[in-house]
Amino acid sequence: MTNSSSQSVLVIGTGGTIAGLKSQSDGGGYLAGQVSISTLLAEVDTKLSIKNKQLCNIDSCDLTQGLLSKIGQEVIDSLHDPQFLGIVITHGTDTMEETGIFLELVLGNLSRKLGKKVVLTGAMLPSDDPNADGPSNLTQAINLAADRHGGGGVWLAMAGKVMPAGLVSKVHTSRLDAFESDESLCLKVSEDLPIPPEDAWPWVEIVMSHSGARDDILRQMIHLGVDGIVLAGTGGGTVHADLAKALEQYAAKGGALLRSSRIGRGTIPNQLANGRIPNSVGAGPLNPAKARIALQLAINASRHRTAKSLTWQEIFARIAFLPNSG
Ligand code: ASP
Repeated sequence: MTNSSSQSVLVIGTGGTIAGLKSQSDGGGYLAGQVSISTLLAEVDTKLSIKNKQLCNIDSCDLTQGLLSKIGQEVIDSLHDPQFLGIVITHGTDTMEETGIFLELVLGNLSRKLGKKVVLTGAMLPSDDPNADGPSNLTQAINLAADRHGGGGVWLAMAGKVMPAGLVSKVHTSRLDAFESDESLCLKVSEDLPIPPEDAWPWVEIVMSHSGARDDILRQMIHLGVDGIVLAGTGGGTVHADLAKALEQYAAKGGALLRSSRIGRGTIPNQLANGRIPNSVGAGPLNPAKARIALQLAINASRHRTAKSLTWQEIFARIAFLPNSG
C-alpha cells in the first residue's frame, strides 16, 4: 500500500487554449496547443508532488477518435498505478464535453471503485494573456484530483466550478465561466464500456433538422454505410417531415438512430409526441456531440461478442435515463 504522502497527481497535457499563445498568431487571435505541460505547471503554486505527461498538444477542434482511445487507455493505466492519487487532463474547451462523456463511459466506474478522481480542465484565455485563467483552473483541478474525500469520479473543474464531466456542456463561446451542467438530469452508467480500437471506431454522423431541411446528404451517408446517426432535432427532438422518411426507413432496417436536440438542454424521451421515427431512441440528457460519442461506444460494445452480449439499444439504456414521454 503506497502512503498518500509519497503519492503524486498526474497531469496529462493534451493542448487547448490553456497551452495557447497569442504571440504565435499573426491575426488578432491566438494558436492553441503551443506550450508544454511542464511549462504550464511551473505557474502552479502547490506543495503537492506532480508528475506530468504530454500526450499531444493540439487545438481540441482537431480531436480524433484514435486520440480519445489513447487518452482513455492512459487514464485507465494511471488509475491502476499506486503512485498516483488522482489524474488531471488539460484539454481544449471546444471538445472537452466529448472527452468528458467518453471518460465517464469507459472508466467512470473504475475511478469510483478506486476512489481516484479524474479531472478535466482548460482555459478560455491563452497562456500569455495578462488575465490568463489557465493557472487558477489548473491549480483548482490539481487540488481536486489530490482530494481523496468524496471518492472518485470524472469531473470538469473550471472558473471555480466543479461539474460531472459526463453531464457538462460548453454553453458560451468566450465567457471564462463557459461550462454548465444540469444537475437535475442524470446518467445511469452501470458498467464501464470497452474503449474502441484507435482505428476502428464505429462511423456515426450527426444530422441537424432545420427549416428547409433536405434528405439528399442523409440518404448518401446511409448509402455509404454509416454505422449510426444522431439526429440533432428541433425542440424536444422533433424532426422535419422531409428528413423523417429517410430516417424512418434507416431505423426500420435496423440502423442505429438516436434522437437528441440541437437545444442542448433538457432531456429527450424515447417517443415523440407527433409519432415520427417510432423506432428511434431518445438521447436522454446528451447533447448531439455527446450522444454521438455514447452511440459509438454502445455500438462498439454491442460488437463485443460475450456470453451476455447486448444490443446497442440495451447498452444505451444503461447509459441514459430515458423518460417515456416529454
Ligand atoms: N480551440 C480551443 C481548443 O479547444 C479552445 C479552448 O481551448 O478554449 O483547443
